[in-house]
Amino acid sequence: MTTLDELPIRDDLRGLRPYGAPQLDVPVRLNTNENSYPVPEPVVDAIAKALAAELRDLNRYPDRDAVALRADLAAYLGHGLTVDHLWAANGSNEIQQQLLQAFGGPGRTALGFTPAYSMHPLLALGTGTGWIPAARGADFGLTAADAVAQVRAHRPDVVFLCSPNNPTGTALDPAVVAAVLDEAPGMVIVDEAYAEFARPGTVSALAVLPDHPRLVVTRTMSKAFGFAGGRLGYLAADPAVVRAVQLVRLPYHLSALTQAAARAALAHRDALLGTVAAIMEQRDRIVAELRGRGHRVADSDANFVLFEVGGDQAAAWRTLLDAGVLVRDVGLPGWLRVTAGTPAETDAFLAAMEKVREREE
Ligand SMILES: *Cc1c(COP(=O)(O)O)cnc(C)c1O
Repeated sequence: MTTLDELPIRDDLRGLRPYGAPQLDVPVRLNTNENSYPVPEPVVDAIAKALAAELRDLNRYPDRDAVALRADLAAYLGHGLTVDHLWAANGSNEIQQQLLQAFGGPGRTALGFTPAYSMHPLLALGTGTGWIPAARGADFGLTAADAVAQVRAHRPDVVFLCSPNNPTGTALDPAVVAAVLDEAPGMVIVDEAYAEFARPGTVSALAVLPDHPRLVVTRTMSKAFGFAGGRLGYLAADPAVVRAVQLVRLPYHLSALTQAAARAALAHRDALLGTVAAIMEQRDRIVAELRGRGHRVADSDANFVLFEVGGDQAAAWRTLLDAGVLVRDVGLPGWLRVTAGTPAETDAFLAAMEKVREREE
């Protein structure tokens, strides 16, 4: 058998392993921030019907520009956005890859404030974009002054902001986004994968799109919509940005089946987003319970919670797994991340956390 090392692979990929959280068969899976609720039956039926209607025409390529889907996404977002401001792809990961293909690439740099979404540096790697890991302050916070100083020092071609931030869970102060937009010489991408879960009063960067042609807001149907398996992400930006990513997208990147399924899901968004309030309730319950037990916990505007275990997080992760609960070790010493799911999943997680405590005593 040929080993990877024997192939003439790019030097910057040599020795790397594929990214991905462990997909383990465990009763309680709270490690990838999926929506724990299955797609409701009426929506299953609607998606099945929409897919069936496409099947005869699968001999033809799909609408390359996904116009109908983009119009539906614009209507969902509101803010006066139209089809020309929207672009869709197979997950917001692909959206961000296309953005780096268009605005990053060899000889260019992208900057993000770590800890943030681990895919941002990997997408930079894959597109040959130099990655600049900028820092957050105490308690994973990010102030406007701190963000601006680091952008000024590095003058990156692309800045990634993540709000609500993964893995910390906290949304950014809009003043940080505004300050970075003022200072950044290039594109500013605000990854809002968890926007639907934000606490009341949280402001989306969509609100300032009209004044900022170099701002891109990325969203996804993977989390709040419970549509992770459907693979549908999108962006909202100035129409010129949409024309830019159209230069690098593969023709027909979004299958007719994906487009049809996503449109059917969007048409039933009330049913799909109906789980968001219940998930936020479990999120707030996890935060309150863990704080009550003396853990440090980051404020969360997302469907997950970052908490300090007080000791070796890898050992705590293992103890939780042995108790049938899979959470995420994001590589932050002393901290773990847990997804908020159903009330029963919260019960199981909190019970398993008692085991972690017992081990330490
Ligand atoms: C889960 C997540 C995404 C979603 O990626 P998809 O490709 O749309 O599934 C994007 N950004 C962040 C920060 C995430 O945590």
